[in-house]
Amino acid sequence: MAISVIPQPTSSLYSIGNQIKSLFGEWAADTYAHGGYPALEMRALADSGLLTSVLPGAPLDPAGKHHPELLDLLRIIGEGNLSVGRIFEGHVNALQLIGLYATEDQKERWYDDARQGHLFGVWNTEMGHGVRYHEEAGGQYRTEGSKTYCSGSVQVTRPIVTGQLVKSRDDNSGWQMAVLPLDRHEPEVDRSFWTTAGMRNSVSYKIDFTGIHLGSEDLLGEPDDYNRQPHLSGGAVRFAAVQLGGAEAILEHTRTFLQRLNRSEDPVQRRRIGQMVVAVSSGKLWLQQAGSVLNSSTDSDHIIFIANQVRTAIAEYCRLCLDLSDQSVGSRGMLPPEPLARLHADLRVYLRQPAPDAALSAIGQYFLNGPS
Ligand SMILES: Cc1cc2nc3c(=O)[nH]c(=O)nc-3n(C[C@H](O)[C@H](O)[C@H](O)COP(=O)(O)OP(=O)(O)OC[C@H]3O[C@@H](n4cnc5c(N)ncnc54)[C@H](O)[C@@H]3O)c2cc1C
Repeated sequence: MAISVIPQPTSSLYSIGNQIKSLFGEWAADTYAHGGYPALEMRALADSGLLTSVLPGAPLDPAGKHHPELLDLLRIIGEGNLSVGRIFEGHVNALQLIGLYATEDQKERWYDDARQGHLFGVWNTEMGHGVRYHEEAGGQYRTEGSKTYCSGSVQVTRPIVTGQLVKSRDDNSGWQMAVLPLDRHEPEVDRSFWTTAGMRNSVSYKIDFTGIHLGSEDLLGEPDDYNRQPHLSGGAVRFAAVQLGGAEAILEHTRTFLQRLNRSEDPVQRRRIGQMVVAVSSGKLWLQQAGSVLNSSTDSDHIIFIANQVRTAIAEYCRLCLDLSDQSVGSRGMLPPEPLARLHADLRVYLRQPAPDAALSAIGQYFLNGPS
């Protein structure tokens, strides 16, 4: 596919997002079939200016009040390709964390890296043998251990990798962020970790960083900054936006399948589609609400309360759409070249996000104990 069809950064973000989404739709079957890093799609995001759209002075500058537009863009990219949405969301998250916690020198360096085309991400999840940063003489740090679910894999050349800071004296240890310059290292990548039914193109492999040496200029923020609220829990609205895009794609393809088979006059099918439309529209309303709260509120507990509701509600809407689409199209609708089987597989896997039970509990706790 010729890259010259990529929309140019001069168009509005909404229009760029929608053009990109259509391209992703054209490429989707091939990308899903190869199951690897979605290079064509990520290049399109770079060439259209979307990867730098969250830098200072750019259309989605985090310092501006652009949360509704960002959530909308994430939803549109997710509709085009959920794996790409996952990688893009990690890039946005990382640049936001840099905006919050980096020194001025670091911001200059990492923003410049982003402009040069480096992809960022956030790799926090680990299983056994998690990451530790051992302090050594001369302000150096030795990395030990691995992360799981490293979306984007080593194509993310500037991941924020969290880990336990191990000081020579035991003061000021904690959960430390560092930006690892992976273009200068060759960490061990365990691709066998990511044998998954969906989201294969997110290439969320396990990566071992043992032996990588860092300077203090590579550490981002203070220990435990990563867990600071409302940014940690509030960020859930971003993955919820991407997920809703997945549900929207399923709604759209369920509709075209039924139309093609002349099954759109059936009252039961109409009812199911109606339920899906209500679910997707409700998700969009939640995203608008989240965008406006993030733009206007400084009340950390309230932001978390809303973010937890958004992610819980959207996960439910997505599950409802999966179920209704499944009933609507039957096994025939799930056979390639129909796109629905891969869309379902991706969304089912991408619905797995951290601590869903805890998020719902926190909603109940806030409501029970919070202001009346
Ligand atoms: C496609 C994809 C890409 C990802 N990319 C990244 C990435 O780039 N960076 C990154 O850091 N992470 C990434 N992740 C990881 C993701 O953020 C979650 O951390 C991870 O999916 C959670 O693990 P789990 O799905 O096994 O769920 P679990 O956390 O094991 O949860 C499963 C169930 O157990 C419940 N539960 C959780 N803890 C407890 C407990 N202590 N006691 C009882 N019940 C509990 C949960 O509420 C849930 O119902 C990715 C995940 C996916 C699916």
